[in-house]
This record gives sequence, C-alpha cells and structure tokens, in this order.
Amino acid sequence: MASRHITVPAFAEAREGVRHFFGTRQEADRPGWASSVVVSVTQVHGTEALVLDRPVEPGETFSGGWDALVTNQREVLLTVKTADCVPVLVHDPRQGAVAAIHAGWRGTVAGILPRTLAVMQERFGSAPRSLRIGIGPSAGPCCYEVDEPVLTKLRERCPDWSLVVRETGPGAWLLDLRHLLRRQAQAMGMDDTAIRTVNACTICHPTLFHSYRREGTARGTMVSGIMLTRRSKKR
Ligand SMILES: [Zn+2]
Repeated sequence: MASRHITVPAFAEAREGVRHFFGTRQEADRPGWASSVVVSVTQVHGTEALVLDRPVEPGETFSGGWDALVTNQREVLLTVKTADCVPVLVHDPRQGAVAAIHAGWRGTVAGILPRTLAVMQERFGSAPRSLRIGIGPSAGPCCYEVDEPVLTKLRERCPDWSLVVRETGPGAWLLDLRHLLRRQAQAMGMDDTAIRTVNACTICHPTLFHSYRREGTARGTMVSGIMLTRRSKKR
C-alpha cells in the first residue's frame, strides 16, 4: 500500500486551525491544497529564517537563501525540501504561528532549531512552552554514518554530543540527528510530550523515501509543509 504523505495527528490537528504533512517520494507536491499560497525558498544549509508577517501574494517569490520559514499568516503553506536531512514543523496554537525548518547536520549543529524558536518568540510572542514540534522522516540512527570532521563540529557546538552518536569503528559514528533536535527543543524549554518524531529512516525505506546517501545528489527530494488554516483558533 502506497502512503502518499505522513501526518502526525498528535502534533497538529485540523481542529486547531493547522494542517501539515511530511512528504514521501510518492507525493512530490502538496496534497491538494489548491486554495493556499505556497512558499518555497532556496535552502543553503544555514540558520537564517525568512519571517512572513504580512499577506503573501500567490506566485510571490523570495530571492535569497533560508532554511527556516516562519509565518503568522493564514492559508500560507510553508514548505521545505529534504532527502536525508530532517524536516521540522513547528506550531504555536496559542499565538497562531507556524514554522517549517530544513535541518541537516550543519544547520542542526549551528542551531537552526533554537534560533528559529527564538525568532518565533521575538516576532510573534511564541513561548517555547506553548509550542508543538513535529520531527519528520530523515536519515536515521540506524544508517546515518558521519566522519571525524562532523564529529569535531558536534563536539565543539553540542554539549550533548555523546548522547546522539554511537561509534561503529575507527573514525566512524552513527548520528541520531532527530534526537539531537529533540534535545535542543527541550533545552529551549519545550515539554517532551510536545515533541513528536516520525521514526522513519529515509535510507532504510527506498520505496517510501528519496535518500541522497542511497541514490546520490541528482535524485529527488520530499516536500513537507505546514499551514495555518482560515479557521480561527481564538477562543
Ligand atoms: Zn536506516
């Protein structure tokens, strides 16, 4: 049975005024959200967030590179493209804001997730305690082998580095990037139960996912997205 995209009901429910999906290779495009404005930008493995705090025109493009998108606008679908990197979706049901993040090892180690949460707090008053996060399919701790240069960066930047790697041989480690992201979200003050992870490995599941590691860089990517719907969440 083909699964076209993955949703995590415990992370973001439609009745809360939000929709989201994590893409698979069977669904290269957004799943039938014809009425929404779709925002997709060039990703550069950095830590900068593009903040959209005003209405976005259909077809509007943004020149520059960003690995996080943040908005408080409704019917604006924020999308990121990933293959082995981690798509991270964030929802603030209290202030009405969402974020989509492309988190590879470089961006994660450089702190793209905590930085984006800080941007949400600054711009939209999103307290980390109110946030929910969905961490999507990516290269898993079963397959995601990294070498000494990556481990050196991890050691320098991440106090918890030893908890997210497992040595497999001389100069080789398996990295659990999703776990590192979870720990970073917790360190920002997020509740553990508000962080949901899709424990699916893009390298292990060729029928479901594209993988750079498995297929090479010329292959496809998956699109994941999140959008505040028109329905008001205010009570
Ligand atoms: Zn795997």
